[in-house]
Amino acid sequence: MTAGETAPAARGSRGADGPPSRQATIRAELGRLLRAGNLTAQELSARVGVPERQIPAHLGHLARSLRARAERLAIEPARCLDCGFVFRKRDRLSRPSRCPACRSQHLTSPRFAIARG
Ligand SMILES: [Zn+2]
Repeated sequence: MTAGETAPAARGSRGADGPPSRQATIRAELGRLLRAGNLTAQELSARVGVPERQIPAHLGHLARSLRARAERLAIEPARCLDCGFVFRKRDRLSRPSRCPACRSQHLTSPRFAIARG
């Protein structure tokens, strides 16, 4: 008498690749934080639980989705603490590493927020 095969019970969840919903959750959370106030990539990283180096990519996606809602990503640029140079490039989402004017590495981090229009 054969013991019989155990029924293939619910072996549901397959596919270990990051579910796309996780990415959407991260961006929704970033959006919520940025509507509440100005934050640096380090602060966003700590609050959302994403490595800091991934924050610029998320912000890029978020910025695109904001346009449809008449909102935009406002960037307070990084600044050199030694000579006062301001990194005005508005497309700069990642943190600059060195001042082009005096080569100092004492820089503030850019801060992000979501603004209307
Ligand atoms: Zn400088």
